Amino acid sequence: MYTVFEAIQAVLQQVPVPQKEQVSLLQALHRVLVEDVFVPEESPAFPKALMDGFAVSVTTGLVHAGQLSEDSEPLRLRVVETIVAGQVPHREPNQNEAVRIMTGAPVPPNCGCVVPVEHVEFHEQDPEWVVIHRNQLVLGANILATGAIAHVGDPLMKAGTQLQPSHVGALAEFGISSVSVSKRPRVAVLATGNELVHFSRQPGAGCIRNSNQPMLAAQIQTANAIPQLLGIAKDSAESLKAGISAGLRADVLLLTGGVSAGILDLVPQQLEMAGVTQIFHGVLMKPGKPLWFGIRKDRGHVCLVFGLPGNPVSSLACFELFVRPALRRLSGLPGESVFHATLTEPFQVWGHRPVYQPVVLSQKCGTMLARPVPWSNSSDLKATVNANGMALLEPEHGPYGAGECVTVWPWN
Ligand code: AMP
Ligand code: MG
Repeated sequence: MYTVFEAIQAVLQQVPVPQKEQVSLLQALHRVLVEDVFVPEESPAFPKALMDGFAVSVTTGLVHAGQLSEDSEPLRLRVVETIVAGQVPHREPNQNEAVRIMTGAPVPPNCGCVVPVEHVEFHEQDPEWVVIHRNQLVLGANILATGAIAHVGDPLMKAGTQLQPSHVGALAEFGISSVSVSKRPRVAVLATGNELVHFSRQPGAGCIRNSNQPMLAAQIQTANAIPQLLGIAKDSAESLKAGISAGLRADVLLLTGGVSAGILDLVPQQLEMAGVTQIFHGVLMKPGKPLWFGIRKDRGHVCLVFGLPGNPVSSLACFELFVRPALRRLSGLPGESVFHATLTEPFQVWGHRPVYQPVVLSQKCGTMLARPVPWSNSSDLKATVNANGMALLEPEHGPYGAGECVTVWPWN
């Protein structure tokens, strides 16, 4: 039987390269770039005032930062123009002149600094004059030179970047209105089981609600993929066959239930009959041992197929451990993201399989903490509402002490 590590590697090996599409900037949040993006124009495109104040010519006796001016007499300069953002300057002030300028406005080409209005003597009643102390005349102060932020051809974002709001803003700043990103994977979900009814219905005798399907749809959404819910298949060859053939059109097909050793666990057999090649069946873990994984390639279309165990906590854990990395890879991201946390209390697990234990993850002074929550078995979904992640605890490790470091998977 595969270990979890072996099974994850086996899954990732089968993931095809992401498909790409061009999307507008307003659709680009959380999408993953498939191409490097370069700066298309100088930024800023003109020397820009960083403060509201007065632009002064380089001939007005500017000093370098840290130097003191030889002359201590304040300067009285004539204000020859006012420039607000969106305008262009028409005058270059001489050594006895200044230009009143607002933040974001283009600085006249011959100016060497902008002195903030807070540091000058200026009165609206006498707007033709400004008095400036010479120690304010520092070369380059409060001017962002042309190209100071970026030059044409500079790297802006690398392929593989997942776009955050700030990326979207930066792309807009440079006039890049659409980007080439990986396609969001389409993930079909087929629940299986004669006992299942839609979650909105009252189950009849011996039946239960289908909780896995909405839970998986939610997990798929947190992975920025597109869920396609295929309803419930009965534990019969005909019903499974129809559901599977619809599901294989997606990039990923998730089935829940029907992969264990029961007399109606027909999923592996029906998948193989539909042309899905089994990669593994069974993983050394708790919960989730019956997990089935295979792949179907049909004329260029690849579908990754996961037969998730029906027990809800198994299904939840298997998605996080195996499906999420596959979806990340399909989206152009690195497959796995590994986190570690410090156990807050002693804990021991039993048996011979590694346990993926529901925990509460929290932060304290930059350290992630993991507190195990009481949990009875893989059907105990209610216990998971008190948790926000899971921790790997190995029986052969023996008793864990408080303060030990464990690998954890935050749930989204
Ligand atoms: P199975 O893997 O089909 O043997 O199912 C294992 C257990 O999970 C059984 O108790 C099922 O009733 C339950 N189960 C299977 N599918 C679902 C589902 N979609 N939602 C909730 N429970 C399920
Ligand atoms: Mg079943």
